[in-house]
Amino acid sequence: AKAAKVDRPIVFDQVLRDKAQKRLYIENELRDVISRDELTLFYQPIVDLESGDFRGVEALIRWFHPESGMIPPDEFISIAEEMDLIIPVGNFVLNEACRQLNRWRKTLGPLAPANLHVNVSRKQLEHPTLVTVVKNVLRKYEIPPECLHLEVTESIIMHDREISVSTLNELKKLGVNIDVDDFGTGYSSLSCLCDFPIDVLKLDREFVKKSDRDREVMLIEALIILAEKLGLEVIAEGIENAEQLALLQALGCRLGQGYFFSKPLIAADLEQAILKEDWP
Ligand code: C2E
Ligand code: CA
Ligand code: CA
Ligand code: CA
Repeated sequence: AKAAKVDRPIVFDQVLRDKAQKRLYIENELRDVISRDELTLFYQPIVDLESGDFRGVEALIRWFHPESGMIPPDEFISIAEEMDLIIPVGNFVLNEACRQLNRWRKTLGPLAPANLHVNVSRKQLEHPTLVTVVKNVLRKYEIPPECLHLEVTESIIMHDREISVSTLNELKKLGVNIDVDDFGTGYSSLSCLCDFPIDVLKLDREFVKKSDRDREVMLIEALIILAEKLGLEVIAEGIENAEQLALLQALGCRLGQGYFFSKPLIAADLEQAILKEDWP
C-alpha cells in the first residue's frame, strides 16, 4: 500500500514530463516549420446531400515532420497560436489554399471546387492584418470572394465581440463567407447568430455521431429549421455512414462532409476523385 502511494505521483510526474517534453519538442520544431517546407494542405470534399454534387472543399493543415512523421493539427495549432506563429502559419494556409484553387480553376474549369473553406484561428481573426491579407490573396489568385469561406468557431468570435463584429463586417464587405465551425458545442450559440454576419452553420460532428438518439435528432431538426429561417446554409460534419446520411437528408440538411464521402485528400487525389466523381 505504501509503495502504491509513492508510485502515483511518480507516474503522474512521468506523464507530465513526457507531455512537457513533447510540447517543448513541438515548440522547437515549429519555429522554422514554414521555411523547412513541412506544412501541407489536405482537402476534404463538401457534398450536396440531395444531388450528390460536389460543392467544395475544406482545407486542413498537415505537418509532415522528417523524423516524427505526421503531426496532426490538434497537436500543434494551439501551440502555434500561443507562440504567435499562427499568423505566418495561417497566412501560409490562406495563400496555399487560394493558390491551389487558382490552379484547379485553370485545370478543372467548371469541375473546380465552387467553395473553398479555410479555418481561421482566434489570433488570426484578432490580428489587424487579416482583412488585408484576405483581400490581397483573393486578388493575387483571381478568386471570386464568394468562393471563399472563413471558418471560425463560436468561442473565437465570442472572445472579443467588438473586434469580431468589426472584422467580420469588413470581411463581409470583401464578399467572403463566414462559417461558424463546430456549431452547437460552445456557449451563446444562439445569440452569436444575431450579432455576427454569418452565412453558414457547420453542425458539429458530435450531433451527427449521436444522431441515433431521439433527442439529438430533434435538436438537429430544430437547428436546420432555425438556420433556414435565418437564411443560413447548414453543413453537417462527420458523416460516416449511410444511416447518418439518410437521416440528415430526411431532416432537410443540404450539405455535408465526412469519411462516408471522403477523408481529407492531397490535392492530386482530390483532383482524381473529382474527375471520377468518386463519392457515394
Ligand atoms: P475542424 O475544423 O472541425 O475540422 C474537421 C476535422 O474532422 C478534421 O480533422 C477532419 O479530418 C475530421 N473529419 C472529417 N470527417 C470526419 C469523419 O467523418 N469522422 C471523423 N471522426 N472525423 C472527421 P483534422 O484535419 O485533424 O483537424 C482538426 C482540427 O484542427 C480542425 O477541426 C481545425 O479546428 C484545426 N485545423 C485544421 N487545419 C487548420 C488550419 O489550417 N488552420 C487552423 N487554424 N486550424 C486548423
Ligand atoms: Ca473547420
Ligand atoms: Ca468543425
Ligand atoms: Ca472540431
